[in-house]
Amino acid sequence: MQSFIPQRKLLMGPGPSDVSERVLKALSRPTIGHLDPSFIKLMDETKTLLQYVFQTKNELTMPISAPGSAGMEACFVNLIEPGDKVIVCQNGVFGTRMKENVIRSGGELVLVEDPWGEQTKPEKLRAALDANPDTKIVAFVHAETSTGVRNDAQTLCAIAKEYDCLTLVDAVTTLAGIELRVDDWQIDAIYSGTQKCLSCVPGLSPVSFSEAALEKIKSRKTPVQSWFLDLNLILGYWGQGAQRAYHHTAPVNSIYALHESLLMVKEEGLENAWERHQNNHNYLRDELQKIGLNMTIDAAYRLPQLNLVDIPKGCDDAKIRKQLLNEFDVEIGAGLGALAGKVWRIGLMGESSNRQKIDTCIAALKAVL
Ligand SMILES: *Cc1c(COP(=O)(O)O)cnc(C)c1O
Repeated sequence: MQSFIPQRKLLMGPGPSDVSERVLKALSRPTIGHLDPSFIKLMDETKTLLQYVFQTKNELTMPISAPGSAGMEACFVNLIEPGDKVIVCQNGVFGTRMKENVIRSGGELVLVEDPWGEQTKPEKLRAALDANPDTKIVAFVHAETSTGVRNDAQTLCAIAKEYDCLTLVDAVTTLAGIELRVDDWQIDAIYSGTQKCLSCVPGLSPVSFSEAALEKIKSRKTPVQSWFLDLNLILGYWGQGAQRAYHHTAPVNSIYALHESLLMVKEEGLENAWERHQNNHNYLRDELQKIGLNMTIDAAYRLPQLNLVDIPKGCDDAKIRKQLLNEFDVEIGAGLGALAGKVWRIGLMGESSNRQKIDTCIAALKAVL
């Protein structure tokens, strides 16, 4: 055995996205103690930067020391007490995982289903709330990475609020890629990931909770089923002004990397980052059209950072992706579920949302096809 030195690939799939040299350098700085005063200062800055990218004043905003799926679980296990009625809007893979979280947390599940590749219909949510006025939480995925569909977060949250529900939103692929305003849109619990549009290394999950969500967590009658993800305990470590107490050892170097990637978003400007993702999507769409490839999802609710492309008739999906990876060092994603074998998923997230990289990807696709 010897040191592992990976070949550099162009990451244009559903995540992880390309990580910049700047973030990789931050990751390799000297490890310090996780209770060291200078690390605590870094934690405070990271929190402020996360509040900026989430567009929130929420005090309880921080990265969970585990990937996006753990952020998802943190939101569900902290907010649900056994017997709570929870509506999950499902139109893809990640909505299905939300459903699973509700069941395992002892919640009473109400499912609002829409076909994969289509948006969650706001009127269906309203009908479910009318039929279930005792609903406590409404959960949905903002950017469904499995289908490339953007759900209308602002409208869904506004409806949930008419019925006095807490709102719980998956923003793993959203954050820094498309418009997201946690406070303005009345989102109570939200989780994301570092390896999508933030272009940081995988393994952290930024989360944020409103005052109302915090109140629900603090007034629980039953303890949170997960010790590690119990926010009452994590708060002792990440909480404002708290005497930082040991909960778990923070992934120190990963936080350096997250801080750096957030700083890069701040330097670019959040709204400029959203605009860049849209412009590069338009460019990809036009370039794909020139080589005879079409977008799968309706332009009205298509995600710019995750593009479903119809696989042309007679093409061998797996063989083409393998060739792209092995001969051109370009990674694109496969279709999932009902869309497997029918579409490719081309991610333009963070650092991968870049014209030159799109040109490289298109040239490789053209050559292979
Ligand atoms: C990637 C993703 C997740 C899961 O994140 P992991 O970091 O892989 O655990 C959850 N939701 C959405 C929408 C995603 O795209």
